[in-house]
Amino acid sequence: MPTSDFYERLGVPRTASADEIKKAYRKLALKYHPDKNPGDKASEEKFKEVSAAYEVLSDTGKRAQYDQFGHEAFTRKRGGPGGPGGGGPGMDPYDIFSQVFGGGGGGGGIFDSFFGGGGGGNGAQGGNDLRYDLSIPFEDAVFGASREIEIPRAEHCDRCKGSGCEPGTSKKRCPQCGGSGQVTMAQGFFSIRQRCPQCGGQGESIEKPCRQCRGEGLIERTKKLKINIPAGVDTGSRLRLTGEGEAGRRGGAAGDLYVVLHVEEHLLFKRDGDDLYCEVPIPMTTAALGATVKVPTLTGAAELTVPAGTQPGTIFRMRGKGIPSLRGGGRGDLHIRIKIEIPVKLDAALREKLKAFADTADAAFPDSRGFQDRAKKFF
Ligand SMILES: [Zn+2]
Ligand SMILES: [Zn+2]
Repeated sequence: MPTSDFYERLGVPRTASADEIKKAYRKLALKYHPDKNPGDKASEEKFKEVSAAYEVLSDTGKRAQYDQFGHEAFTRKRGGPGGPGGGGPGMDPYDIFSQVFGGGGGGGGIFDSFFGGGGGGNGAQGGNDLRYDLSIPFEDAVFGASREIEIPRAEHCDRCKGSGCEPGTSKKRCPQCGGSGQVTMAQGFFSIRQRCPQCGGQGESIEKPCRQCRGEGLIERTKKLKINIPAGVDTGSRLRLTGEGEAGRRGGAAGDLYVVLHVEEHLLFKRDGDDLYCEVPIPMTTAALGATVKVPTLTGAAELTVPAGTQPGTIFRMRGKGIPSLRGGGRGDLHIRIKIEIPVKLDAALREKLKAFADTADAAFPDSRGFQDRAKKFF
C-alpha cells in the first residue's frame, strides 16, 4: 500500500525546509527512475508517487494549501491515474524530474542528468553531461595513448549566437504571464500558480525563431576531440573533459564529457589491478631438470630461471613488470604461474625410455611414496 501522505512519501517531517524536500526528492527519484529500473513496475509507481508529492511540496502555494486542506483536496479534485496514491496532480513526473535535474528536453536519459547539477537561476540551464564509451587495446591502457574521438553534441547555434532569435530580432516579454513565467489558474475553490504554458516559464518568448535552430539556440554538431589516455587505466576508468558536454541554454554553463574506458582482453595476460598474471606451460622434463625459460612481459621477452624440481602451480613473481600505477609512482608485478605438461605423444622408443626411468626412479618421487606409506593401513 503506498502511503498517501506526501511528506511520508518523501520521508521528510512536516517542518522540512524547501531544500530538505528537494534533497529527499532527488535521492528517491534517482533510486526509482525507470531508466535505472527497466521494466520494474513497482519502481515506476514509486517514481510517480514521489514526483507527485514533490510537485505539491516544492511549490510554496500548493504546499500551504496541502497543509491546510490535506491530502483529500489534492487527490479528489484532480484524481490522476491510479486514484489516491497514484499519479495525483496532472504534471508529468518526467517533466518534474528533468526540471530538478536540469536535463534539457528530449535526448539524454538519466545517465546524462546523473552527474551534472541543475542550472543556475534566471532561466539559465546548464548543458547536459555526455557519456562516450571507448574501447582501447590492452597495450594502450598499460602505456597510455592519445586518441581522437568524434562526438555528436548540442552546440550554440552560430546563426543566432545561441539566442534562438533570427538575427535582427529579439525576445519580447511573454504576453500571457507578463514576464513572470507563471500564471494563476482556478482549481475548484482555490487558485493555483502554474508554469506559463505559452513561454514555458521563461517569461519571454521569441518573436521570430532563428531559421537554423528553429529557436532552440542549439544545434547538433559532430565535434572532434583529442583525448589523452594516461598509462594504467582500466575498464571502468572515467576521463572527465570539463566543458566538453552539451552547450548550456540561456547563458548556462556547458556540461562535461565523460569518456568511459573499456579495455580489451590480452592474448597472454590477465590483469588484476596493477598486477599481471600469465600462465606458462613447461615440459615435465624442464620442471624436473631445471632450466632458463623464456617468458613474455609487456616490454618484450624475459628469462626466468626455473629451478630443478619445480612443481605445478608454482608462481614466480617478477617485480615491477606489471602495470604502471595510475596514482603515480611504481608498477605492479608480473606473476608467472607454471603449468607442467605431461607428455601425451609417446612413440615406442620414448615409451621404452620412460618406462626404464620409471622402474628405477621410485626414490625421485618422495611425496607420492610418502602418501602410499601413510595410507597403507586404509588399503
Ligand atoms: Zn539559431
Ligand atoms: Zn509566459
